[in-house]
Amino acid sequence: MALTNRQYDAIMRLYDKRQYQNYRTQSRHQDEVYQRFPRIRELEEEISSLSLQKIEKLYTLDGNDTEAFDCAKKETLTELKNQLLSLRKEKEALLQKAGYPADYLELSYTCKDCQDTGYIGQKKCHCFRKEEIRLLYSSSRLEAILQEENFSTLSFEVYDEEQRIAIPPIIHICENFIEYFDTEFQGLLFYGPVGTGKTFLTNCIAKELLDRGHSVIYFTAFQLFEHFSLDQKPEDLETFGQRHEALLDSDLLILDDIGTEMANTFTVSKLFQVLNERALRRKSTIISTNLSPKDFRDIYSERVFSRITSTCKLVKFTGSDIRIRRKISGSR
Ligand SMILES: [Zn+2]
Repeated sequence: MALTNRQYDAIMRLYDKRQYQNYRTQSRHQDEVYQRFPRIRELEEEISSLSLQKIEKLYTLDGNDTEAFDCAKKETLTELKNQLLSLRKEKEALLQKAGYPADYLELSYTCKDCQDTGYIGQKKCHCFRKEEIRLLYSSSRLEAILQEENFSTLSFEVYDEEQRIAIPPIIHICENFIEYFDTEFQGLLFYGPVGTGKTFLTNCIAKELLDRGHSVIYFTAFQLFEHFSLDQKPEDLETFGQRHEALLDSDLLILDDIGTEMANTFTVSKLFQVLNERALRRKSTIISTNLSPKDFRDIYSERVFSRITSTCKLVKFTGSDIRIRRKISGSR
């Protein structure tokens, strides 16, 4: 699935808007400070004129000059650098004395990595990817659910006795997964009977990672396979990668509720392609299933299972069905 021109333009307009707002903020800050401290404006003018001189000097340095000439130019350059440094220090000191942060007059960016252009070189920035995913995969399902299902709404009251013992170490695993998400590549396979809290904890992780600026795609297994069934013809790996770029490249992919009902040659091969491609890109996946590891392996093949076990931590959920208990007790 790729962005339509309209979706692409919508994202680029977002960047235009961000840039415009940041320029506005900068010029508001400048007006305010220059009015109160004219010396700061003078300093900025001196800094910009000296910077220009420095650039000119840099361009006139060339290897053909005599050694003495070259030396003299380098000395001028050093002198310019020192002058610039002391002007900048004076400016910062004045700003700080007046109670402003040292970078108050600088242009600020919503995303420092791409400076709000959406691109780093030729490559889409992570902030672009996040917008892309939001448009393509309508994270709205997640957004709505995550308001209700997150670590702040986690309550031990819903768990039975067995779960109250089993769940804290699982929460610890989830917290570690979030904590080391940026530095350690790992996935999770949540397995256990229906209604033991797998999806809830998956949602908790999704919410935390989204809040920290990561891109997250959520699919039930059914939605994922339906998504692939729209592909017109069998694809080679490269076409597959291009068509499903955002899905394969999102920071986290959640595949919820993989059961027996959808297993066939087509779904097994797509599942392998997704897991394999994401593992090669070192992108984490969380899978939840009601199947035992053994049944999972028998149904979805040794190949898929070994891809999962080589990249995911296996986490076992136990106990009785929380949803049924809730209904019986009359609570939510
Ligand atoms: Zn960016």
